Amino acid sequence: LTGEGSPLEMEEKEIRGVKMRVWKNAPGSLREVLEVSRGHGNLDFLVYEGERVTFEAHYRAVAKLATALQNKYGIEKGDRVAIAMRNYPEWVIAFWAAAAVGAIVVPLNSWWTGEELEYGLSDSGAKLAVVDGERLESIKPHLKNLDLGGLLVVRGVGDLAGGDDWEEVVAPYGAYADLPDTKMPDVALEPEDNATIFYTSGTTGKPKGALGTHRNICGNLLSLAIGTARSMMRRGEIPQPPDPDGPKPSTLISVPLFHATGCHAILCGTTFSGGKLVMMYKWDPLKAMQLIQEEKIKAFGGVPAMVWQVLEHPHFKDYDLSSVESISYGGAPSAPELVTRIKEEFPQVQPGNGYGLTETSSVTSQNSAEDYVNRPNSAGPAIPVCDIKVVDAEGKELGPNEVGELWIKGPNVVSGYWNKPEATAEAITDGWLHTGDLVRVDEEGFIFILDRAKDMLIRGGENVYCVEVEDALYAHEDVMDAAVVGIPHKVLGEEVGAIVQIKPGAKVTEEKLRAFVGEHIAAFKVPVKIELRTEPLPRNANGKILKRQLKDEFLQSLGVA
Ligand code: AMP
Repeated sequence: LTGEGSPLEMEEKEIRGVKMRVWKNAPGSLREVLEVSRGHGNLDFLVYEGERVTFEAHYRAVAKLATALQNKYGIEKGDRVAIAMRNYPEWVIAFWAAAAVGAIVVPLNSWWTGEELEYGLSDSGAKLAVVDGERLESIKPHLKNLDLGGLLVVRGVGDLAGGDDWEEVVAPYGAYADLPDTKMPDVALEPEDNATIFYTSGTTGKPKGALGTHRNICGNLLSLAIGTARSMMRRGEIPQPPDPDGPKPSTLISVPLFHATGCHAILCGTTFSGGKLVMMYKWDPLKAMQLIQEEKIKAFGGVPAMVWQVLEHPHFKDYDLSSVESISYGGAPSAPELVTRIKEEFPQVQPGNGYGLTETSSVTSQNSAEDYVNRPNSAGPAIPVCDIKVVDAEGKELGPNEVGELWIKGPNVVSGYWNKPEATAEAITDGWLHTGDLVRVDEEGFIFILDRAKDMLIRGGENVYCVEVEDALYAHEDVMDAAVVGIPHKVLGEEVGAIVQIKPGAKVTEEKLRAFVGEHIAAFKVPVKIELRTEPLPRNANGKILKRQLKDEFLQSLGVA
């Protein structure tokens, strides 16, 4: 990638009838991506709080930890290594080290409570947990219920509960550049080997672990790179991925690394391409603008709420954001006005709405700049390697512009859910993933997302599964019945609301119920508004709550209908 000796050669190939220039020896495993990344040498890779780590220093830190994973913790191919921390540089090192020795990396949501973290660690059967100081405090009371073989603590203070201090096992962050050139352990990895477990939707109330292979991640990485094929073809060029020796991207990572988009599309994509990844430990629009200006960020994005927060920030005009070339967003529905605002404020920028799921290893479709002219509210056509179809309730394929559920097939679709064969069989048939999203697809293959068939709402890009919140409400002794619905919110997209039937004579108040729920589930899932009722919630003949009707009534009473 540095020119001579670049491991990536290009070749011309016809893919699905389109002549493209693609990488000849594209990586088939994360291990190979990591080796490619070493070729970026002394370019900046991670920037965090003013400190910089080059690709070479990163590689050495990864080799040091990978060796410790094998020798100190006995991690072998297929063992699960969980990561529970904020977006720290150590997250990145832990991810690559675990992947390099063939472990299955289990990124856990850092907003989860101790109870939720215990679930993730025990469901995945994690042998080692790499946690930051804050997460350590949450899981301390739960450690006795877990059978962890090792605990590695990042930026911990005080009592480490028997865990090892990261700085002693690897090195202090600022010292990576001086680490000796440890040999990366030799582990043979195949594209079909399992690589990650990301927790996502739970129709039964608990999140399920989507099990991704190395092929899933690498396939998406490469297809994302040729995702601009349409624009190139319009210009009469042969589509090809970005020139490996061309200018490097610099990206602000605003989304959590424990999401497939943050991990696969942004982290793995940047590691591969030689870009600079500027990290923020926590999302903050003001800090984001400072970093864009200081680090001359070219690519910025996140969930639509984050883009809005920057655009509407009182200090928006105080910063020089002219380095930005692309603003990509997705993970939640966005209003077409967002494109208009981006084009007004950033005339030089390519906006891009990306749609995808954890189960598709992040992005599956992308709307690019020119597409917006005629279809500002589309999530774009599928990326080149994916097939899509729209089906009715019986699974019969529908024609253009007919509304039904979107099904996706491609090398990026995960193999299933960890230890949940029934859930896997329900979600994937003959390789087709049922997305639970209601869409129409026009004659040219552009996807328009209309609604969700699954019982979920998205608050600021974070999925909230209604069943999980309902279960937390049911756990209160005064609750008889509960329905969780979304309350529209301009910036966050949706907020969590609940309608609860309480038992006769119950004394519970809205505040007490919110506090109770907050002890069991992460703060972002706790309803901001709970309506308490004494009469039964409306149900259909099969006993299913009539959510749509309830939601309409609830929103009307809040004055937002
Ligand atoms: P997750 O598995 O957490 O990535 O959530 C996937 C779900 O987020 C999808 O099934 C959609 O319901 C929603 N979603 C993702 N991207 C978009 C988008 N660009 N527009 C609308 N909804 C989206």
